[in-house]
Amino acid sequence: MKKTTGTDRSITSQWRPATRAVRAGTWRSEQGETSEALFLTSGYTYDDAATVAARFAGEAEGMTYSRLQNPTVAMLEERIAAMEGSEACRVQATGMAAMTTALLCQLKTGDHVVAGRAAFGSCRWLVDTLLPKFGIEATVIDARDNAAWEAAIRPNTKVFFFETPANPTMDVVDLEFVCGLAKSRGITSVVDNAFATAALQRPLEFGADVVAYSATKLMDGQGRVLAGAVCGTRQWIDEVLLPFQRNTGPNCSPFNAWVVLKGLETLSLRAHAQSRNALEVGRFVESRVPQMLHPGLPSHPQHNLAMKQMDAVGPIFSFVLDGGRAQAHAVLDALQLIDISNNIGDSKSLLCHPASTTHANMGEEARLEMGIEQGMLRINVGLEDPADLIEDLDQAFTKAGL
Ligand SMILES: *Cc1c(COP(=O)(O)O)cnc(C)c1O
Repeated sequence: MKKTTGTDRSITSQWRPATRAVRAGTWRSEQGETSEALFLTSGYTYDDAATVAARFAGEAEGMTYSRLQNPTVAMLEERIAAMEGSEACRVQATGMAAMTTALLCQLKTGDHVVAGRAAFGSCRWLVDTLLPKFGIEATVIDARDNAAWEAAIRPNTKVFFFETPANPTMDVVDLEFVCGLAKSRGITSVVDNAFATAALQRPLEFGADVVAYSATKLMDGQGRVLAGAVCGTRQWIDEVLLPFQRNTGPNCSPFNAWVVLKGLETLSLRAHAQSRNALEVGRFVESRVPQMLHPGLPSHPQHNLAMKQMDAVGPIFSFVLDGGRAQAHAVLDALQLIDISNNIGDSKSLLCHPASTTHANMGEEARLEMGIEQGMLRINVGLEDPADLIEDLDQAFTKAGL
């Protein structure tokens, strides 16, 4: 394998973001292929016994087993790290494998975590159900409230864990304040950046320690594969995350890594085009519904904060109808173009009713505490012509009595 200039961080760090997205992390085999090669191999062979012994001893570079290293996976890791501006990155099989790894690799019995209450359903399950099983306590707060973060800190607080914008209420967390507070108290901040990606928001620039991803969403962007990623300093990745990942095996398949790698080449174009479409569709939806949750619109109470820390607010927003679940379901059932789907980040527009899908199993009380009403719908705006999306929503709203 020949490493190209894309693997030299002293060079890639000089490149502008669009160039990093296309070229960072590229290795080439002796064939000189243009597109990144897909290495579907679990193991490796060696010219002689001394070579393999040196690799296992950590004295020579080279692959030994795909749970530890794989060239296609390594290319994706280098590209994500270059886009994120992080020293290192490791990719995992899914976003939830990434979140679980990012938390469990650094926590132990007796530790305490503070987490944002608006979150992806399974992220809340980690905090509410999994961590307590291992004697790790968690305090769940309204992450928009800076004072609540400070008030929740205990002597044994090790991690702050949150997403911004948060799913599906679109709560925005003040990255600079919360990550700065964590740093000043020796707490590790872990930011789930799936809704934005590095194309729209780079939490490390605001002081975050660890950035974790579902790469299933905008990074793949075309609804094909599941994948996840965790980014941090070289030392944290090597000393804290890697021992956990290498021995527990939440690894990403080389095939899925390759798909995401190719998706990253167009991430910035897609993220910005979908953000523009989501603003246009959002302005229409706002004219028709009683409650709008779109941080890109001036009506959102956290609009200024969102614009301070994001280049654009992305393809996803939510809105609430007065007619509860019946009216929300009526809108879904009247759609002719937009699909009923709980996925996000896709280039296809998708509409979802969180209370009966992604957040169905948490119970009405916890849902309401999180701000998820029965009348809430969450949309992922894709790459279709926004005029067609507006026409589809217009007819669906009318049929649903709006
Ligand atoms: C989808 C998602 C996850 C989980 O990712 P998977 O790839 O589905 O495992 C975690 N956090 C957020 C914010 C997500 O949107």
